[in-house]
Amino acid sequence: MKFGGVAVANGEKIKRVAYLVKRFKEEGSREKEERNELVVVTSAISTVTDTLYENANRIAKEGNVEKVKEFVDGLRDKHVLTASEAIDNRDELSEVKAEIKERIAEIERALIGICLLGELTPRSLDYISSFGERLAAPILAGTLRSLGMEAVHLTGGEAGIITNEEYGNAQLTWGVERGIRERIMPLLEDKIPVVAGFIGETMKGTITTLGRGGSDYTATIIGAAIDADEIWLWKETEGIMSADPKIIKNARKIPYISYVEAMELSYFGASVLHPRAMEPVMRKQIPIRVKNLIKPEDEGTLIGEEPAKTKKAAKAITLIENTSIINVTGTGMMSISEVAARIFSALAAKNVDSIMVSQGSSEMTISLVIESAQLERAIGAIQSINSSGTIIRDFTFNSDVCAMSVVGAGMAGTPGVAGEVFSALGKEGISVIMISQGSSEFNISFVVKREDAYKAAQAIHDVFEMGA
Ligand code: ASP
Ligand code: MG
Repeated sequence: MKFGGVAVANGEKIKRVAYLVKRFKEEGSREKEERNELVVVTSAISTVTDTLYENANRIAKEGNVEKVKEFVDGLRDKHVLTASEAIDNRDELSEVKAEIKERIAEIERALIGICLLGELTPRSLDYISSFGERLAAPILAGTLRSLGMEAVHLTGGEAGIITNEEYGNAQLTWGVERGIRERIMPLLEDKIPVVAGFIGETMKGTITTLGRGGSDYTATIIGAAIDADEIWLWKETEGIMSADPKIIKNARKIPYISYVEAMELSYFGASVLHPRAMEPVMRKQIPIRVKNLIKPEDEGTLIGEEPAKTKKAAKAITLIENTSIINVTGTGMMSISEVAARIFSALAAKNVDSIMVSQGSSEMTISLVIESAQLERAIGAIQSINSSGTIIRDFTFNSDVCAMSVVGAGMAGTPGVAGEVFSALGKEGISVIMISQGSSEFNISFVVKREDAYKAAQAIHDVFEMGA
């Protein structure tokens, strides 16, 4: 069971999580011969990871040691308060408080170093951002113990999640499953392991992170390694939705979705799950459930192997709001593939991810869509390859756009789906700026003017009866 940041946002919520775990354990021993065993994975308390990133950057820039003190004091107070609300047993509480203070002393030392050097490397940023989960896990484990359960907390490394040194987006090393099993299985005999999500460790013991939202991924890595029956990702949402309910009034929960569809949705920024979360479980076909903490009895969304047979080919529509489109036109001095190679390696060097890419056949133009937050970096990257003006003739961008994606396994091999998508938009008088369809055919992505986006989403949601 994985609990997201909102699920552990304060002491009261952490208590609720602990009761839920307790009920699951007890139900298991009542109803079945075998008892229920579980591993708990926790995110950082909601917003803490963001704060860590922001402050690490700010502290490196400003170089004011006083600000480090201010920040870590706030961080300590928040976690001590949360622990005090969550943990009733006094001995447990004082143990957890002592641990929080140790962690805070560590982060303070690191931040002072960063502050004095004025330098924040990807490696130190991973170390700093790991503290959210490393502070949350002891609190949740202490809360479980306070309710009479045997619980121990582990970092990602202690749970066997060993990665390479790709800081910020670390990749698992070969054969980690065995190490995870060796560490987790013996604990399950009589304990509940509470693993800090999001983080791993290199072979040398340096802390790494698995990318934003990485706690989902931690849960599925561990679930796959120990051959879990199911993986439950607890959120404060109904499950995976056909569209954002804030935008589409009749958006509804998707009861069943396949791994590949869930992956498409995540890749397209639907912030449903970590995009790599499906990878570890696909081969073993372990079902994932996205469950609603507010209605724990609810089935949530089940994610499994088979694409569900639905009346309509498309299941969900997602949109990424703050996107920019960039058009780069070559001079013709180089082939378009050489220009593309230059552009993409320059973007990669500046950590810019393109969400969509398209290239017309007749022109020397490549269009790409990125998050607007990365626009400045992208412009810098493209200028860097064109210092002498021989590669790129023209370069424009537009930040007034919205990227959208229609997802559904039923689209593969079904003629006319794209036609339905674009005629629905046409009927609304919405013009499409850019189109791309992956060859998996599980999604069609396109770009419209920002002001048209919500209308476009509603039109597509209606045409495919996603709310029915
Ligand atoms: N705390 C991390 C983040 O905010 C990981 C997670 O929540 O899954 O990205
Ligand atoms: Mg999260």
